[in-house]
Amino acid sequence: MRVNLRWPSRAEDRFEKWIEQRHQERVLAGETTPRGPCPDEAFLRDLARKSKRIALSDPRVDHAATCPVCMRRLLTMRREHQSRRQKLVFVTTVATCVVIAAVITVARHEMEKRSLAANSAVVAETVNLWDAGAFRGQQPGQLQSVTLPAARVRLTIILPRFSSPGQYVVAVTHGPDGSGLVTEAATLANNRGQQETLSVNLDLRRAHAGQYYLSTTHEQDQASYYYPLQIR
Ligand SMILES: [Zn+2]
Repeated sequence: MRVNLRWPSRAEDRFEKWIEQRHQERVLAGETTPRGPCPDEAFLRDLARKSKRIALSDPRVDHAATCPVCMRRLLTMRREHQSRRQKLVFVTTVATCVVIAAVITVARHEMEKRSLAANSAVVAETVNLWDAGAFRGQQPGQLQSVTLPAARVRLTIILPRFSSPGQYVVAVTHGPDGSGLVTEAATLANNRGQQETLSVNLDLRRAHAGQYYLSTTHEQDQASYYYPLQIR
């Protein structure tokens, strides 16, 4: 694409002024008869388009400046040429805007893709609740606070002492009563010596930083234990 944002140049403005002055001088001097024959259409078109490239000493220019027929033709051609040029500038400007918009859209898409890729890294976290108290229902106990990043988390939970083996559901919620579920995952507890541990994948990428609750629910007793959770 050829970009041409040139407005009529100063050289062309000067040329027009010069033609006008010549014309007035001739009229004032009573020289109303143009010298020589009318130049052909091609010359006038050249004069209208690329006036600054034509030597002012060319006798045909002198003729055009005094001949009302040539002058009228010349001015019409210049007006047409300028309006074509303005249209070209307009079209070029629109095309440039479209290209810029496309570039911005592609760049934004790339950035989103890259930030999503950066966010999709899995962060391993361990939460030790061995000595922790928790909410059971609405009863606050000795609370253990937990902090997790707003990312994809591979979470290992060491359950409080005396926890039962079996299937658990781990959930992140807004409320301490299971309301406002952010994410949850079910898993079977692993026994490590005396400790029961849970391993779950939690996607916390859409969670805003703030206060939440992490809960564990045993499939049989259906009692949920809630721990205050800070997402950073
Ligand atoms: Zn003429």
